[in-house]
Amino acid sequence: MSFERKKIVILGGGYAGLSALVGLQKELGLSEADITLINKNEYHYEATWLHETAAGTINWEDGVYPINKVVDNMKTNFVVAEVTKIDKDSQVVETTKGNVEYDILIVALGFESETFGIEGMAEHAESITSPQTALKARALVEKNFNNYLESKDKNDLAIVVGGAGFTGIEYLGELVDSLPILCDNLDINYDDVSITCVEAMPSMLPMFSEDLSGYAKKYLESKGVKFLLGTPIVAANEEGFVVKINDKEETVKANNRIWTAGVRGNKLMEENFDGVMRGRIIVKDDLTIEGYDNVYAIGDVSAVMNGTGENARPYPTTAQIAMQLGEHTAKIISAKLRGKKVEPFVYDDKGTVCSLGAKNGIGVVYGKEIKGKSAAFMKKVIDTRAVAKIGGPVLGFTKGKFL
Ligand code: NAD
Repeated sequence: MSFERKKIVILGGGYAGLSALVGLQKELGLSEADITLINKNEYHYEATWLHETAAGTINWEDGVYPINKVVDNMKTNFVVAEVTKIDKDSQVVETTKGNVEYDILIVALGFESETFGIEGMAEHAESITSPQTALKARALVEKNFNNYLESKDKNDLAIVVGGAGFTGIEYLGELVDSLPILCDNLDINYDDVSITCVEAMPSMLPMFSEDLSGYAKKYLESKGVKFLLGTPIVAANEEGFVVKINDKEETVKANNRIWTAGVRGNKLMEENFDGVMRGRIIVKDDLTIEGYDNVYAIGDVSAVMNGTGENARPYPTTAQIAMQLGEHTAKIISAKLRGKKVEPFVYDDKGTVCSLGAKNGIGVVYGKEIKGKSAAFMKKVIDTRAVAKIGGPVLGFTKGKFL
């Protein structure tokens, strides 16, 4: 057993970082470690609820809670600051509030939008990657719908969503719940609203069976969503998204342009680590990175490989795996400090649910396919469980989806 008090620094207060924090606070005694958590906001946000903020079905405050609620002040120093540099050799993290030294570093800096260099996308579309961007997406739609009352320009009522992945589909599910209410309030005929989802692949949500993804597509179509599948977006401008149909370029006109077609790990990863792809770095079985046994990478900045050799593929980044990685990192660090055997990370995939608004959804839970109200209910269980797992039962009760 080591009696040296180790300086453990966690970068990021998302699902992975906070799960690691809560685990370390539980696993380690006061004499074993001195923990510092660095996060750019004083709050944690539920990244998997952002599409609801973006569509206006929840207030942004509903999807956030103060990080202090999970900080044990006896063990942890919480610093609200932005990380600017990681110096792995001198074991120092530079932040906007000064330098912090570490013995053990947990990098959990999360995700951001990826536009794949598509011309005009960053300037002419909103993304759904933080409470701030989600609020901008919501404000854009509200501004343009209000503007329509004067302009009578149909493009003010046109929404184009880039990408039919989880974020795109969950956002559309919320939109078809919230837009009829917005239209009622503004005395706009909902039939005048046009919602188009453009997806490069020939099918959507390929991780689900055709039955489930077909159900989601039919439901959204029944609410007025038009899908352009097998249609890549090649540019964005002030008129809409430029798409390729049969090798010809066309513009899907819309004043409301939302890009949900890509995420990547934090850009600080490329700036501070070698071998990073789209902000993700491959981790070893013990979740450390090659060459640095004291540096852990978890959550959306890590690539945890499924399988070995040529067939190995990184697991998709989800809140579920991020939380498991955080919990396991705490166990690994405590085992290493106590000279005990380290168990490799094994992902326990409990399933996935894709919501289609508040009352509908599709999913696979413990290997069983579900759809409709039962999937919507399961999604609320998953969302509430995520809050409770990190924040405890009281936070789960007050911030969860069942109040
Ligand atoms: P994604 O990468 O999973 O989906 C993006 C979609 O955009 C893909 O279908 C892709 O083919 C399409 N696309 C990419 N470039 C395009 C282009 N130029 N033109 C048109 N379409 C294009 O991204 P996401 O949906 O934000 O999800 C990110 C991660 O988060 C995933 O791993 C996902 O599983 C996870 N997630 C999970 C949930 C959930 O479990 N409910 C919710 C949100 C996100």
